[in-house]
Amino acid sequence: MEIEMQGLMQHWPLTVDKILDHAARVHGDAEVVTRRLGGDIHRISYAALHDRAKQVSAALMAQGIRPGDRVATLAWNGERHMECWYGTMGIGAVLHTINPRLHADQIVWIANHAADRVLVLDACFVPLIESIRDRLPIEHYVIIADRDAMPANDLGALCYEDWIAGRDTGTPWGGFDENAACGLCYTSGTTGNPKGVLYSHRSNVLHAMMALGRDVLNIGRNDVVMPVVPMFHANAWGMAFVCPAAGARMVMPGAQLDGASIYELLDSERVTMTAAVPTVWIGLLHHLREHGLCLPWLKRVVIGGAALPEAILRAFEDDYGIEVIHGWGMTELSPMGTLGGLMPALADADRDIQVRQKLKQGIPPFGVELKIVDEDGEELPADGNSPGRLKARGFAVAGGYLDGDGGDVLDADGWFDTGDVATIDNHGAMQITDRAKDVIKSGGEWISSIDIENAVLSHAGVANAAAIGVPHPKWDERPLLIVQAEPGARPADHELRDLLEGRIARWWMPDEIVFIDAIPLGPTGKVNKLKLRELHREGKLRAPLN
Ligand code: ADP
Repeated sequence: MEIEMQGLMQHWPLTVDKILDHAARVHGDAEVVTRRLGGDIHRISYAALHDRAKQVSAALMAQGIRPGDRVATLAWNGERHMECWYGTMGIGAVLHTINPRLHADQIVWIANHAADRVLVLDACFVPLIESIRDRLPIEHYVIIADRDAMPANDLGALCYEDWIAGRDTGTPWGGFDENAACGLCYTSGTTGNPKGVLYSHRSNVLHAMMALGRDVLNIGRNDVVMPVVPMFHANAWGMAFVCPAAGARMVMPGAQLDGASIYELLDSERVTMTAAVPTVWIGLLHHLREHGLCLPWLKRVVIGGAALPEAILRAFEDDYGIEVIHGWGMTELSPMGTLGGLMPALADADRDIQVRQKLKQGIPPFGVELKIVDEDGEELPADGNSPGRLKARGFAVAGGYLDGDGGDVLDADGWFDTGDVATIDNHGAMQITDRAKDVIKSGGEWISSIDIENAVLSHAGVANAAAIGVPHPKWDERPLLIVQAEPGARPADHELRDLLEGRIARWWMPDEIVFIDAIPLGPTGKVNKLKLRELHREGKLRAPLN
């Protein structure tokens, strides 16, 4: 439609380089603190990080990297990863974060698919990359290490510090269209090949602004934020953009993500806000309990990527006075989709009702539209009781995958199918019942594996749990519950069934409960149900305990 009357505001393209410019100018002294691979703690200000990111830009340009070229990283959260991030995006090149937990063949696949030209990697990943180097398209390797700690390698790699040393700190940034590609992140591809989600500058800037909101991440300049969620897991859920935009101090945990290491940093750096998948918090809570510790500085924990178990919510909030924010999202949503919390109508409701509500995946912030549909694509009512396919629309929602993989992913009205099954209640809160591919369908009806898992996880002797559908001659599928016990614990079958009784419909009760030493986790730290189904098919999941 032709514009009848043009607005008269400035043209100020929404490009992410402006975020770090802002941090350096306005919050120049705020620090980014990193636990490096050797365990030492390193501190740098946003102002100095900004200069070094500019040097990365100069180094990339000297290697012939041009706008649109892909620069890959294989690295834990750290300040030099941030420098590469902005140094690449600032000149219009595309930063491709590779998840090091992927299988080597998958790394080969995505690096070729993305046509990565440069790879910047942590020193600990040198053996992995050496083993696949002949199959990679990479022209230049750079190893994140100090000069005196540079590992021997046959990659012909440069030392990061040599790469940027003496380079211009005034390399110009920006000056391109805000719709230019900015970042690339592959979904883990539990079915079929991974697919590349290609973020734009505009989508990332708008997502960061959205995430700053009071009912979203609520991050300000007085916060100390530790993204435990890796930068390769959907942009550390936006935090590498949100923190410098807000001027928040950042604490980067590097490679050590166990309970003791996380605790140490949360405590010594007086972290006020942190975020990760549930498995990380299971480890931290275990450590706190075992050593009788508390976290007086920590105010908020964002838990997402997989459903929040009630036991974790109650432990943080009731035992330690730390607010839990449950988040749902996906790589394709940049990643934030909803945040758990209470609408004003429930402010005075009793605690059990509030807990039930907070366990829901929550409310979409402005910029995300959600709806649920039935098998014919008809919208279902928001009555909290009608599960359907969850669809999303918004300024930071994928409109397609790199190279058109997966075909046309939007429906006629521009909605993206999330692959999740969910309900939406009369408060607007969304609740995931399952991933469509993990749904347990018994007698034609859906059973929510998440509800079963959450009930069982409230047992002190249960470290982790997963419910999967297994074939059944009469009912199609029946739920099988797989439990990983806490070390030394042996929860009895009837104790687990008692926990389920009353919390789930009777016909959802798992037919069988089996124990496993360690529930397999996928590359983003979530339960790998594909693997569990495989183990079941191979008859490796028998051995009921009692
Ligand atoms: P991956 O497939 O690599 O795990 P994502 O991180 O993009 O990639 O995963 C997104 C999916 O994770 C969602 O579609 C949903 O199924 C699941 N998920 C994310 N957050 C939650 C949550 N809070 N509760 C339940 N499921 C979640």
